[in-house]
Amino acid sequence: MPKKKYLSKDKIIGKQVINPKAMIVGSIKNLSFDPEKKEVAFSVTTKEGKEMMVTGSEIDTVGDVVLLKKQMNHQPATPTKTAKSTSPGLCSMCNFQNDSTAKFCIKCGAKVQ
Ligand SMILES: [Zn+2]
Repeated sequence: MPKKKYLSKDKIIGKQVINPKAMIVGSIKNLSFDPEKKEVAFSVTTKEGKEMMVTGSEIDTVGDVVLLKKQMNHQPATPTKTAKSTSPGLCSMCNFQNDSTAKFCIKCGAKVQ
């Protein structure tokens, strides 16, 4: 087993932070430690000059840059399947997919929205 490597503070501060889309998020400005979670957090200055915290669990790889894991930014989840009626031609009665221009369902005859 190789010896565990530790990066000193000096080597981490100033590193660029990259998200999984290979976009530069910002650079690490400081290190802090969460005593409750026993987790290291990084304070990152973003390109816009804002500050954000990145916890150790959000980091995928630390190399020449810091690569973040995918669930960064806490973006709103992609909308779950929208209501049936939003799909053109989909019959709300029998779920038959009609032509998108259809006004009535060819299967059950119900009005299609
Ligand atoms: Zn129908």
